[in-house]
Amino acid sequence: MAANTKIEWTDNTVNFWTGCHKVSDGCKFCYMYRDKHKYGQDPTTVKRTSDATFKQALKWEKGKKIFTCSWSDFFVADADLWREDAWDIIRQTPQHSWQILTKRPERILQCLPDDWGDGWDNVWLGVSVESQKYMHRIEELASIPAKTRFISAEPLLGELDFSKYADTLKLFHWCIIGGESGNDNGIWKYRPCELEWVERIIKDLKDTDVAIFVKQMGTSLSKKMGLKDRHGGDIVEWPVNIQVREFPNEKSLVNIQSTLNS
Ligand code: SF4
Repeated sequence: MAANTKIEWTDNTVNFWTGCHKVSDGCKFCYMYRDKHKYGQDPTTVKRTSDATFKQALKWEKGKKIFTCSWSDFFVADADLWREDAWDIIRQTPQHSWQILTKRPERILQCLPDDWGDGWDNVWLGVSVESQKYMHRIEELASIPAKTRFISAEPLLGELDFSKYADTLKLFHWCIIGGESGNDNGIWKYRPCELEWVERIIKDLKDTDVAIFVKQMGTSLSKKMGLKDRHGGDIVEWPVNIQVREFPNEKSLVNIQSTLNS
């Protein structure tokens, strides 16, 4: 099956349910809200998807990176009744890498399956950290057993300072970075992101084992930098020191070592 997403750090999305409630600053211009409004649907009603959608990953023999739930939050309380069934699909598909990103790390522990143990090899658990205010989420995730942990600094809304988190970062494997995309007209806008914020994360993480994936500059920074890609997602348009797209356990930093050491 062809990829069903343009998100560069994954191969496919699978939504076991859709709909959610806004819980933090990063949610302000949530694309799920935008698209549900466009289709005349209520984004706050959390609904289980059809069996065909829920179980589609069982049919994919070749391993994929799967971002779930891109139109919800895997740990939203409204989905408690269906989560065991979702874990069962994940349990049956060791060929895939399930990327579970949440803004609700405080709910993870109570929502894990009984046989979670030290974590499953095929599950990456991640938290969103859009600004310093939410850095506590990495500590919450660090306290939960997992084989792969990641940070999503997207939409990046402020400068992040990892200096107090050196020990915590030793338990992390990956960090995604991206500015917010949005429109000039209508209600689905975008907020500023600064190139220095992106560079600082790369610099702070370069001597750790945390792989870095710079996804996009976002609409504001794209305009400021005069990029052709509206959301600043074309890596070849960026300064060479931020052209880095790694995955967990594939840290190379070939492009950035020389430029950021100076
Ligand atoms: S947690 Fe995610 S899906 Fe839910 S409202 Fe916030 S951005 Fe949207």
